[in-house]
Amino acid sequence: MECTDKLTPDMIRTLIGGALTARKMSYSPYSHYQVGAALLAGDGRIVTGCNIENAAYSPGCCAERTAIFKAVSEGITSFKAIAIAGSPRGDVLTQYAYPCGVCRQVMMEFCDPEHLQVIVAKSEDDYRITTLRELLPEGFGPDNLAADENTDVKE
Ligand SMILES: [Zn+2]
Repeated sequence: MECTDKLTPDMIRTLIGGALTARKMSYSPYSHYQVGAALLAGDGRIVTGCNIENAAYSPGCCAERTAIFKAVSEGITSFKAIAIAGSPRGDVLTQYAYPCGVCRQVMMEFCDPEHLQVIVAKSEDDYRITTLRELLPEGFGPDNLAADENTDVKE
């Protein structure tokens, strides 16, 4: 399916700017890998997040999930796009930070994989755009558990 929800160049810049600003709040004293994310909700609101590490390591959370969980906790569950800006510590970003597998799965829970635009950026002028479907092909999501009365489960 072709994506019909093209983002305007202005919106792309706004989202990347939000991710870069959120990255400044990154709490990453262990990895020094700083990430910010900016989510565009279905209603036009933008919710940001940063990665938050922990001395016990596993309780940490990625920027993408911080933003998604913030949004969901405020009643926002529909998303059009997410911009991600991540790189080792420093003002100049040197990598396109694609979301980890866990974050891709969380996106799958709340987003239409065909339409969620995922922007990975080094700057407002240097970025790549893909869709969740391309990042998580054949992903498992809510549709798999949707009731289907026509399904013969005795097979
Ligand atoms: Zn992640």
